[in-house]
Amino acid sequence: MKRLTGLLLASAVLTLSGCGTAAPKEASLQFISMDTNMTFVGYGEGSEEALAAARREVDRLDALLDRTDSGSAVFRLNHAHGERVDAGAELCGLLDMAKSFSEATGDAFDITLAPVSSAWGFTADAYRVPEQAELDELLTYTGMNRIHTDGTDVSLEDGTEIDLGAIAKGYASDKVAEVFAETGLMQGYAALGGNVLAWGTRTDGNPWRVGVRDPAVPEDPGACLGILQLTDAYAVTSGNYERYFEQDGKRYHHIIDPATGRPAESGLVSVTIVADSRSADGRTLLTNGAMCDALSTALFVMGEEKALDFWRSGAYAFDAVLVTEDSRVLVTSGLADRFALEGSGYACETVS
Ligand code: AMP
Ligand code: MG
Repeated sequence: MKRLTGLLLASAVLTLSGCGTAAPKEASLQFISMDTNMTFVGYGEGSEEALAAARREVDRLDALLDRTDSGSAVFRLNHAHGERVDAGAELCGLLDMAKSFSEATGDAFDITLAPVSSAWGFTADAYRVPEQAELDELLTYTGMNRIHTDGTDVSLEDGTEIDLGAIAKGYASDKVAEVFAETGLMQGYAALGGNVLAWGTRTDGNPWRVGVRDPAVPEDPGACLGILQLTDAYAVTSGNYERYFEQDGKRYHHIIDPATGRPAESGLVSVTIVADSRSADGRTLLTNGAMCDALSTALFVMGEEKALDFWRSGAYAFDAVLVTEDSRVLVTSGLADRFALEGSGYACETVS
């Protein structure tokens, strides 16, 4: 098994040597935001400023969207007891996006699961296994139809709370892409926890190498089951190893099935979604990060069959790597020549 750090990072090594060309200037930033480790790397003149501007953007979004931060717009909304709150255009745009992902995925994606996540202790790291009766009661407060918008005014029905944890980092990666484009950065990457933006190519012209983590080794963030070769792309993984606790020999993870209020037991242990960050002619920036993030969570809940039917429907332009609990790795055809299994223990199938 190959060891890599994080989902990306396999390739931050320059391979220029002996050709008389000075290596492009490298800048890197590591910091914690949105409750996760972030690593930004950029090459070329001005890369330091580009990364700093991208970081400011991510920190701004963290302050807007963190439901545990009493200064955030999401916190204000969650604590307004049904009153209308001016949530601002950006948060309203995100709520609209979240609504369309719920509709498209048959409600597998649901940002109103916040009270349910809290009951499992995932918000405060105070883990417990709630009774089903408690979950059933909390589920009466969930559902996207309990969010009401009027312009930028938003109200949540009493008892309803939102958590954008399944889409916020992907949305932030879209904003990072915008900053990279505006500042003229040509090559680099941004890893926002399990949300990766591979920007351009490596400095040797080859694709970035993005590792897909091995869910069987949750304690080792460097263990990868396969490598994606990506240029101008987003890659986002949802896995049962990212946040979990164990009780009586059973693992309880953080991705909730809205139908039951319990950690999704769909037969999948991780879902990686890949989509372009630039049009084929290279001219148009594509902000697909939020989509990748929302779909990685939703397809995890859906399970293999529904997830693949959803991919085949063509509703969104993406590819996927699904890892099943019986150690199969299903790669959709658009990624077949960009994904390679590393080591043993898994059987890989291409899906069309
Ligand atoms: P991700 O790591 O992107 O899959 O997002 C998981 C996070 O999103 C969890 O920590 C919860 O805060 C929230 N969440 C859990 N289940 C769902 C779901 N079915 N739909 C939307 N958000 C969810
Ligand atoms: Mg997600």
